[in-house]
Amino acid sequence: MHGALDDTICAIATPPGEGGIGVIRVSGLHALDVAAQVILPRSGKLLHELVSHKMTVADVCAPAITAGTVRGEQLPARFVIDEALVVVMKGPHSYTGEDVVEVQCHGGPVVLDQLCRGLLAAGARLAEPGEFTRRAFLSGRLDLAQAEAVLETIRAKTARSLTIAQSQRRGELSREVELIRSDVVTALAHIEAALDFGDEDITFVEKSELVGLLEAIGLKLQRLVESGNEGRILREGAVVAILGRPNVGKSSLLNALLQSDRAIVTPIPGTTRDVLEELVSIEGIPVRLVDTAGIRHTDDPVEAEGIRRSRLAWQDADVALILLDGSEALSDDDRSLLSSCEAAHVILVLNKCDLPRQLSRAQLEALSPGHGGVVDISATMRLGLDELRGTIRTRLMTSGLESREGVLVTNLRHIDACSRALLGVRQAQQSVADDRAGELIAVDLRIAADALGEITGVITTDDILERIFSEFCIGK
Ligand code: GDP
Repeated sequence: MHGALDDTICAIATPPGEGGIGVIRVSGLHALDVAAQVILPRSGKLLHELVSHKMTVADVCAPAITAGTVRGEQLPARFVIDEALVVVMKGPHSYTGEDVVEVQCHGGPVVLDQLCRGLLAAGARLAEPGEFTRRAFLSGRLDLAQAEAVLETIRAKTARSLTIAQSQRRGELSREVELIRSDVVTALAHIEAALDFGDEDITFVEKSELVGLLEAIGLKLQRLVESGNEGRILREGAVVAILGRPNVGKSSLLNALLQSDRAIVTPIPGTTRDVLEELVSIEGIPVRLVDTAGIRHTDDPVEAEGIRRSRLAWQDADVALILLDGSEALSDDDRSLLSSCEAAHVILVLNKCDLPRQLSRAQLEALSPGHGGVVDISATMRLGLDELRGTIRTRLMTSGLESREGVLVTNLRHIDACSRALLGVRQAQQSVADDRAGELIAVDLRIAADALGEITGVITTDDILERIFSEFCIGK
């Protein structure tokens, strides 16, 4: 159950542990009254008298009611917890739209804990996860997609994901969605007007005009849905598995891509017994690189378990790099791996190109024609890695929508809503083409409009809000 909106909420907004500074936020109708009990500006002014959005130095004190009892220690009546910088942001010009007080004090857990306790004793309650942003949404400061983009900004794994999150936070996706929704509503209005005055036999809109309008809406929605594939990868990251028999250089390749020495590299076959995962940015795409156990025939139960996990990791992967040792002839293990992989998800990588060749690119291309190109690399000499990164990117970003103009849909909830809207519009289009009843067309268009409204939060339920804001941290 969610707390009342007229409560004053407070929370530590900085991560737990020691830090240079720690920030506490207070928000609500009575934020200033509550905070004034523990924050005493050095200038002698009251908190209410401070200029909005201007920082000032203040003593942070235990409130009069708790002085003497903080953590059971005997304290003087007006015990000073810390010296802090304080900023008052008067509503509606604040993040939540309410009166907000932010306190920057020293980032020690006890300082923050005592300040927080002081605020609670003064009448605030602890904020729930995402409650500040939820209030920003409810007060109309942010729409729902923008509120979600706040979380995306915090969670962005690469510079590219951050750029997309920021564009969504500025409302670019919301604007596009609202434009499409308004077209759907226009089409719906035409149909409903025709229904209302149907008896008078007035044609409110030419059929061809309606067909054209619905087609244009459908194309825009289609583009958004298609962008979702790549958008999702940019947001959540892709999984790229490195497969190959022992000793072909899987760990060396992982290290080369990580540019560090996370995995253990040894010349003894079969050392990587388990699945290792690392997050890297490959040309702006967050990628979980999975180094798997060498896949070969074995009687060793521990190694066999590693191989089983490798196969699982590979099945979950968006792309699998099949690594082969170019300094050796193709082995039976290589052949069986090549024949067991689905070509669409595979990039063939020929390693150890610094050594004399036993296996050529042409030979490999002839052997597995369905697998597309082959990339030559040397993991230890760091050769061919840019080409490999480029090939991985192209394989992940298949439609190329990501690099073109226009907004991207990155969030599963938005992708789902766009898909439902597209289905509604396509069904309406079909009904118009088949000269079916206007009521039927209207139902499908209403479904489409509502689905789009869910993205920005024009249409929403407590359930949706609960799901979205519970993912936030406390203090955001
Ligand atoms: P894994 O079992 O597939 O993970 O293979 P490793 O990464 O442990 O490498 C096995 C051996 O091959 C090590 O001795 C590496 O130094 C060597 N190796 C890996 N990549 C290359 C390469 O590009 N060139 C050469 N010359 N040796 C390599």
